[in-house]
Amino acid sequence: MTDVGEPLVVLKDVNKHFGDLHVLRDINLTIHRGEVVVVIGPSGSGKSTLCRAINRLETIGSGTISIDGKELPEEGKDLARLRSDVGMVFQSFNLFSHMTVLDNVTLGPIKVRKVPKAKAVERARELLTRVGVEVQEKKMPAQMSGGQQQRVAIARSLAMDPKVMLFDEPTSALDPEMINEVLDVMTSLAKSGMTMVVVTHEMGFARRAADRVVFMADGEIVEQNTPEEFFTNPQSSRAQDFLSKIL
Ligand code: ADP
Ligand code: MG
Repeated sequence: MTDVGEPLVVLKDVNKHFGDLHVLRDINLTIHRGEVVVVIGPSGSGKSTLCRAINRLETIGSGTISIDGKELPEEGKDLARLRSDVGMVFQSFNLFSHMTVLDNVTLGPIKVRKVPKAKAVERARELLTRVGVEVQEKKMPAQMSGGQQQRVAIARSLAMDPKVMLFDEPTSALDPEMINEVLDVMTSLAKSGMTMVVVTHEMGFARRAADRVVFMADGEIVEQNTPEEFFTNPQSSRAQDFLSKIL
């Protein structure tokens, strides 16, 4: 477990509707620098919408979200810059299919961060080594396994030097034998002090790597606790019910 620092991502009274559906209800959540927060809850409870709101892939109806002390604006240049502080890894491996692994990882730093190419390549190789796919740098995504592609996706996000990394069910689309290779990379990232928000059904990962578990149901944060407390002593009937189905 990491020593957690000052607030990095702060959600205050966040509400979001899709038509009549109230998908985020008065969400108040503070994620501290270096903290690893695992978000769990039934399907449809708003976990993906929460991640997407933090990255402003979704607008919010009311409330505020700030990253490192700066409130996310609705649009504009500041939004693009603040958004680049947030890395995101999705369930589906969304690598650029027409580019090599190396080009996938260097594209953002070169185009957005204006990093010189040689430097971007050097850093990309370090990151590909860190996630264990360095020998594959010339391959196209389709030539790799799902687990390898997901590790490249993590390296690609890290190449932008994000302040916080969001993972939305990063192992849900993987064949079982590939889940651990991705979780191992995430665990080592957590240990390195990265601030992380991880939506996952992998309770082993939550127990091992989370500083805090946030349980959502019906758009609300129902309870949150250390993994040990949450898994052994869930307080709400909804959390008890959820855990009884998955454990
Ligand atoms: P989770 O990730 O916990 O499964 P989501 O955040 O994906 O939940 O979805 C929360 C609720 O919002 C669900 O009822 C879902 O059907 C609905 N929803 C998600 N995205 C949209 C959308 N773009 N338009 C309408 N409803 C949506
Ligand atoms: Mg989801």
